Amino acid sequence: MSENNTVIEESLTALLEDESFLPDLKAQTRRQAFKSLVAILSTPNHIHKSFLRVALEDGTIVRVPSFRVQHNDTLGPYKGGIRFHESVNEEEVANLARLMTLKNALHELPFGGGKGGVIIDPREYSVKELNLICKKYVQYFNDILGPDKDIPAPDAGTGEREMDWMMAEYKNTHPGLPYRGSFTGKSIINGGSLGRKEATGKGVYFSFRYLMHNFLNDNEKWLREQDNLFAETALSKKDRKLNIAVQGFGNLGAVAAKEAFKCNELQNNIVAVSDRDVMLYNSDGLDIPALVRYAQEHGGSLPDSNTALKENEIKAVINDRDELLELDVDVLIMAALENQIHEENMDKIQAQIIVEGANAPITVKADKYLSDNGILIIPDILANAGGVIVSYLEWIQGRDTQFYKEEQIYKLLFDKMQKTMDTILPQFFGDPFPLRQNCYIHSVMKLSTVLFRQGKLY
Ligand code: NAD
Repeated sequence: MSENNTVIEESLTALLEDESFLPDLKAQTRRQAFKSLVAILSTPNHIHKSFLRVALEDGTIVRVPSFRVQHNDTLGPYKGGIRFHESVNEEEVANLARLMTLKNALHELPFGGGKGGVIIDPREYSVKELNLICKKYVQYFNDILGPDKDIPAPDAGTGEREMDWMMAEYKNTHPGLPYRGSFTGKSIINGGSLGRKEATGKGVYFSFRYLMHNFLNDNEKWLREQDNLFAETALSKKDRKLNIAVQGFGNLGAVAAKEAFKCNELQNNIVAVSDRDVMLYNSDGLDIPALVRYAQEHGGSLPDSNTALKENEIKAVINDRDELLELDVDVLIMAALENQIHEENMDKIQAQIIVEGANAPITVKADKYLSDNGILIIPDILANAGGVIVSYLEWIQGRDTQFYKEEQIYKLLFDKMQKTMDTILPQFFGDPFPLRQNCYIHSVMKLSTVLFRQGKLY
């Protein structure tokens, strides 16, 4: 949801009325403190904006608009990705920074929330020019970045190459100081963590599997006693074959689809996957490992012709990519872009469970409409935290210069996500709020309590 301020305000209203929360705050003082909280959590601490001076290869000098938004550092140094995309704007970066504050609070990570953005289409620049843009970004934001101040990571349009370049520039500009923890999402050889690339997709699938298998089995009797729409939705799918559609087959979607395909705990049948060009459909289930192999060999794309499907012995029909969202399936995994389910298509969604791998794939209005209709949404803040959790592990490994094995990383990742889900799910199924709001309430509670105990809330 791009407008997570609304949810912050709703969460604070619910907490204001619950006098067991921060009981020392009473009457007028309580109302005033909660008003302060709305202001603190809805507004970023800093919006840094610079026009990077970059000399292109043909000699032209351009000014590249770029941002670093530092939303809130109550829980630790700011943390969040840097996006290179032509549609980047200040409001979007600020919204994403706020989501990071709440996400880090939810998963008990010792970080605040930040986000960066550079307004360029990276495909229009040479490698040398992109390297220069990365260096300039670090130079211009030199004073505000650092392992204990603000730690960027990759986002859309950036990856380990850009993080390596930025870390190298940080090292140049801070001689003699620790630098490995200045950026995460780096290549392994430069101090990156094993498992970082797979972390978000694995975490997204874990959130779904943990809810639909572990939590439902362990709590079935209790869940059946609850008068809760979302519990009914989840239980109606228990021990059934689950037809799944995955929108987006990039880093996140392909990993999540692979996890779903090989999962023995649930009866998954992945009937559809899509990318920016096509949707592939097979009601008997797609051969996901073959599609992953194909995508790896073809620059990340799915086969887009019957010849390509035949040559690779993949059984599927090719359909229009946007039809995927409206398919008669049980589960939708959203792993492409923001704002995919909106006012125009929300009433055509047939899936009963939606997992948000991408950030904000459902607009605020559509989110309300779907939730009111009992559709169970596992929100971005909960489902897609695998990337930042493993970034945290990378940051620790960089400090200790001790590196974990890949299996250790996945175990730590799943343990952390499980801990969050064990805290949130009983609360969620016991009250009428959608899961997103429950997560926000939890994050806001954590931030408010820390602020109160630090004497910063009045
Ligand atoms: P990616 O660029 O590797 O993959 C994106 C995929 O979506 C590609 O397959 C692309 O073809 C497809 N796509 C683009 N437009 C589409 C459309 N209209 N319909 C269907 N498919 C479309 O990106 P990713 O790393 O897989 O991330 C996916 C989303 O999740 C992004 O929005 C990203 O910001 C978000 N996200 C990623 C991570 C991470 O660690 N990878 C973490 C949190 C959030």
